[in-house]
Amino acid sequence: MKCTRCHARAEVHIRHHNSAFCRGCYGTYFQRQVERAIHKEHMFTPDEDVLVAVSGGKDSLALWDALVTMGYRTTGLHLALGIGDYSAISTRKTEHFARERGLRLLTVPLEDETPGLGIMRVAGATNRKACAACGTVKRHYFDRIAAEQGFQVVATGHNLDDEAARLLGNVLHWQSDHLAKQSPVLVPTHEKFARKVKPFFRISEYETAVYAFFRGIDYVLDECPNSAGATQLVYKDVLNRLEAAMPGTKLTFVQEFLRTGRPAFAGEASSPPQTCESCGMPSYNGTCGFCRLVAEVTRRRNPLPHAGPA
Ligand SMILES: [Zn+2]
Ligand SMILES: [Zn+2]
Repeated sequence: MKCTRCHARAEVHIRHHNSAFCRGCYGTYFQRQVERAIHKEHMFTPDEDVLVAVSGGKDSLALWDALVTMGYRTTGLHLALGIGDYSAISTRKTEHFARERGLRLLTVPLEDETPGLGIMRVAGATNRKACAACGTVKRHYFDRIAAEQGFQVVATGHNLDDEAARLLGNVLHWQSDHLAKQSPVLVPTHEKFARKVKPFFRISEYETAVYAFFRGIDYVLDECPNSAGATQLVYKDVLNRLEAAMPGTKLTFVQEFLRTGRPAFAGEASSPPQTCESCGMPSYNGTCGFCRLVAEVTRRRNPLPHAGPA
């Protein structure tokens, strides 16, 4: 098979685009796709500083690599999650990536945050599912660090497979408020919210993996140990089977949702958040989910003295 662009020997075949590329042309194709998403969806401009959330996995490191290569002004933000060896390796790979390329990286070790917010510790202390605790903590820190450091934009490496799986989950449960908010660009509804963007939302996991491989990016190969059995993986599996039988299904599913489905749910969006009484970040109750979680962990750590008779 020959490269669609230069007719050299192709190394990769992208079925849903009906194209094949040599290594050099693939990089160009990939970055053009990213550029088109950023531009068309008004994600950010070359004059803005972008905070890139990097986990150490292929998607976020590929995103950081692509944005830097394309000349965007970026800083990496890595949360050391405290999920055993998986997190230790993730942090090491992320720091190595930044050091090798001379990029600015902010690392927050959650274990060092009062009262100790490593995800496994939080999950154990609160009886919450690790993934739920992780989501709450991540959302809080992404917004908080962006606000503290003056970033208006936070970019994440969510790809087409992630977005399609999330959409399928939202549709299967008809979560209209979630459907109203599922978008490659979330415009802030509170002064402490950053604009959240997903430049890879039309790029498949396979395409990202190929890019990471061609660019020699060293990333964590393991999935998070907490994701085993996650419903998200079931949705991805189903979507992969549909994609194999009908190439292009994922892209159409997400793209047509954004074009025709999402506007129908616009009225279902929850009202804008208030301000958390405790931390000043956005909150849909008096106290935000993050502060409630911290309070729970603190209570477990320092139980109230037994009040009954000695
Ligand atoms: Zn070529
Ligand atoms: Zn709060």
